[in-house]
Amino acid sequence: MDPAKKNVKQLFVWAAAFLLLLVLFQNLKVANEENELPYSAFKSRLKEGQLSNVVVRPDLIRGESKDKDGHTQRFRTYPLNDANLVADLEKAGVKDFKGEPDKTWVTAALVNVGWVVLFFLLWWVFVVRQVQLGGKQALSFGRSRAKLASGDKKKKTTFADVAGCDEAKEELSEIVEFLKEPEKFRKLGGKIPKGVLLYGAPGTGKTLLARAVAGEAGVPFFSASGSEFVEMFVGVGASRVRDLFDQAKKTAPAVVFIDELDAVGRHRFAGIGGGHDEREQTLNQILIELDGFEGKEGVILIAATNRPDVLDPALLRPGRFDRHINIPAPDKRGREAILKVHAKPVKMDPAVDFAVLAKRTPGFVGSDIANLINEAALLAARRGLAQVGLPELEEAIDRVLAGPQRKSRVISDKEKRIVAYHESGHTLIAKLLPGTDPVHKVSIVPRGPALGYTLQLPEDDRYLTSRTEILNRLCVLLGGRCTEELVFSEITTGASDDLSKATAYAQKMVMEFGMSERVGPIAYRKDAEVFLGRDIARGPGYSESTAEIIDEEIKRILGECKEKVCALLVKNRRSLDALAEKLIEKEVLDRDEVDAILQAAAA
Ligand code: ADP
Ligand code: ZN
Repeated sequence: MDPAKKNVKQLFVWAAAFLLLLVLFQNLKVANEENELPYSAFKSRLKEGQLSNVVVRPDLIRGESKDKDGHTQRFRTYPLNDANLVADLEKAGVKDFKGEPDKTWVTAALVNVGWVVLFFLLWWVFVVRQVQLGGKQALSFGRSRAKLASGDKKKKTTFADVAGCDEAKEELSEIVEFLKEPEKFRKLGGKIPKGVLLYGAPGTGKTLLARAVAGEAGVPFFSASGSEFVEMFVGVGASRVRDLFDQAKKTAPAVVFIDELDAVGRHRFAGIGGGHDEREQTLNQILIELDGFEGKEGVILIAATNRPDVLDPALLRPGRFDRHINIPAPDKRGREAILKVHAKPVKMDPAVDFAVLAKRTPGFVGSDIANLINEAALLAARRGLAQVGLPELEEAIDRVLAGPQRKSRVISDKEKRIVAYHESGHTLIAKLLPGTDPVHKVSIVPRGPALGYTLQLPEDDRYLTSRTEILNRLCVLLGGRCTEELVFSEITTGASDDLSKATAYAQKMVMEFGMSERVGPIAYRKDAEVFLGRDIARGPGYSESTAEIIDEEIKRILGECKEKVCALLVKNRRSLDALAEKLIEKEVLDRDEVDAILQAAAA
């Protein structure tokens, strides 16, 4: 709806409310001025000839009564079943009397509905207005509640305020350039993404980064949250989105930031029970806006989510959110940098070593660190200290660790050790066996549900994989679990993902690739989509005795791999220890570092 139309509508609503009140008031006033007479008094006054202008209704008689001093007063009375009324009126010489249809229902309806309407009106004005904190108009439903934070009011957020995600900053700096001088950028033929998706765990600084992009470019920053769009009234989400973009376009170049994109952007057919209309409309509106601006408006949409996996594919298509930037949890160096950023405005004991603190805080994300410094400052203030010292920081770490939002992500030193060995196991096996993809990076910084990961990247695209290669991959997968057994004589749940992947490989070898001699070159299962019920209806397609053989073969393959891996680990225990210790210390190792460690250990 365009603003003019909206204003007219608002005026209309107010006028209607005013009229309604007026009518109600008049009704009450008339009723109050009328003097209520008993029917008997009415009859006697009638006989005495004091009445005039009588109006007769089935349920009510009203008129004017003149008393002895000549005063006229309005009266009303409730009629009895009086057959002689008209005759009496005539006899009394009432000049003017007339009938009137029964109007009670009109008044009744007006009075009753009036209250309902009045109630809604009050609710509308108060509740909606409350909700629309920030929006100035009381009756503007569809207005976006986007908060505009221009640089001039508060201190500008810049990239210097965001630490530990240099890669993301690098990628975003191109967008800053564009926002600074859209014209120049276009002349040079630069292609600008319309939508940028930042994804990563909560508290890693996605909002902060988006804000910094606006700050660096010196353009307005409009922010809204996906959950705001769907929480309230039906049909409001879409118009809020429209409004948000309209506002941004007016002040372009500008940054529009939508937090929690997954709240509106979930896959449209996900979940039983079909779509959520409100959400879908909002999502569609976002897509329309994205498709609508051609970059010439100079509006950049940045969205954040910690669940990129549930997003509707339509959002991720080229020309929409086509730039995805991962905001990882910070590693040790990153944490040190973030600590420094947040410690800057605080008076710190110069003896505090941020590197040590960073080491003490595995698994902390940016918001945890901000929290940590804040807690420490509060503690120091409570203790009347002039500066924040190590004891306060240590205590603050414990507090943050015990804090409600952290509980699930706490990593103890023991866990860290186990994860380090587990990942070292994967890495070592991958280095020892030929035909495995080179290890690119190994990390024990938690990412999503995984506590650590070993990243292997293929050298080049491969289309054929030999049996030995698959077996070696399987060994790499088992490397983590075997290491845990070997080093800690204990196994954890951390390897369940590895195990299911390894099992899937073994299954495919036996059932699809014909790589088991006992089962033979038969493909039992095509990796087609499994529709609900279809598998059950069709059956597995092999006999029970074959099923047994398949099971045995899968077990045999996995068992043999495990033997091999364990032997390798025992033989290379020194390398394993060296890798794990270094990983505990540095948290992330790249390819060259891994090579160097292994060479040193082998020497
Ligand atoms: P997200 O949007 O990813 O959930 P926020 O951007 O809201 O996280 O981060 C919350 C707060 O945590 C920020 O206001 C900031 O104080 C702090 N913070 C998070 N990440 C960083 C970082 N990389 N550098 C500095 N401070 C950070
Ligand atoms: Zn693993």
